[in-house]
Amino acid sequence: MIDLHTHTTASDGTFKPSQLVSAAGEIGLEALAITDHDNFLGYDEATLAAGENGLDLVCGIELSTRMPRTASHHGKSVHILGYFLDEPPSDSFRAWLNQIQDARRDRNRRLIERLRELGVPITLEEVQEVGRNMTGRPHFAKVLVEKGYVTNYQEAFDLYLDESARAYVQRLEPSVPEGIWRIRSGNGIAVLAHPVRLNVREPGEEDRLIRWMCDQGLQGIEVYHTDHGPEHELHYLALAEKYGLAVTGGSDFHGDLKPRVKLGTGKGNLAIPREVLERLRDSVRA
Ligand code: AMP
Ligand code: ZN
Ligand code: FE
Ligand code: FE
Repeated sequence: MIDLHTHTTASDGTFKPSQLVSAAGEIGLEALAITDHDNFLGYDEATLAAGENGLDLVCGIELSTRMPRTASHHGKSVHILGYFLDEPPSDSFRAWLNQIQDARRDRNRRLIERLRELGVPITLEEVQEVGRNMTGRPHFAKVLVEKGYVTNYQEAFDLYLDESARAYVQRLEPSVPEGIWRIRSGNGIAVLAHPVRLNVREPGEEDRLIRWMCDQGLQGIEVYHTDHGPEHELHYLALAEKYGLAVTGGSDFHGDLKPRVKLGTGKGNLAIPREVLERLRDSVRA
């Protein structure tokens, strides 16, 4: 069994990189990809631990991108996974990620201000204590729960943090084509994450979106994911076939942030065979 989609404390997961590697060993994972949001720090830190316990560790990343104005569904949020990027990643790739992180920090300051205006006086220090170098909305949600402004994580999003909610402030995010292009120029393979979250209303719409992303250089699609039922898996397998996309899969493990999602097995719906990774590697060599 393998897991190609996981998060550590370097983004919004709660397992430290070394803990994640140990957990992977305990459940007998043959391969693990760390795909933190917009950074490689977790992967960097995990390489040593993985070497010690003989785990096949794959370099990955998950970029938050947006559909550009010129395309249909402009403004829609799309997550792009990147695998097998150059190790270490080039200086220009890292510099670009630093820009994204600066934009995130700027958004966080504005989000604190907006919440204060709405009568929710939490501080940047409080959220940064939870989120450290990659503070994001999940950490805001945690603080809102801890301080009793909302009763649970989802309510924090529904009332304040969701794109349609009162406190939402935008941050500068790369477009889908730029995300794909950055991954490919880092010699990685660009994969559409959890396609079920594209949230399209009818199949024709989904087809157009995915065809457009393929035109932009998309190379793979995440067929196996915690949020995908068996009918989704079949559907996305067929799309992969139709568009010549490589197939990937993973749990999207976030530790205690999403306690029902287990490493390797998701919500009990996953058991991704090693061949998926082997085929992915072959598709890079081809
Ligand atoms: P950020 O990158 O800081 O804007 O936070 C994005 C993260 O917030 C996503 O990866 C999700 O984990 C979480 N998130 C965004 N919208 C929602 C929502 N409506 N409900 C629950 N979690 C959400
Ligand atoms: Zn996340
Ligand atoms: Fe995602
Ligand atoms: Fe993820």
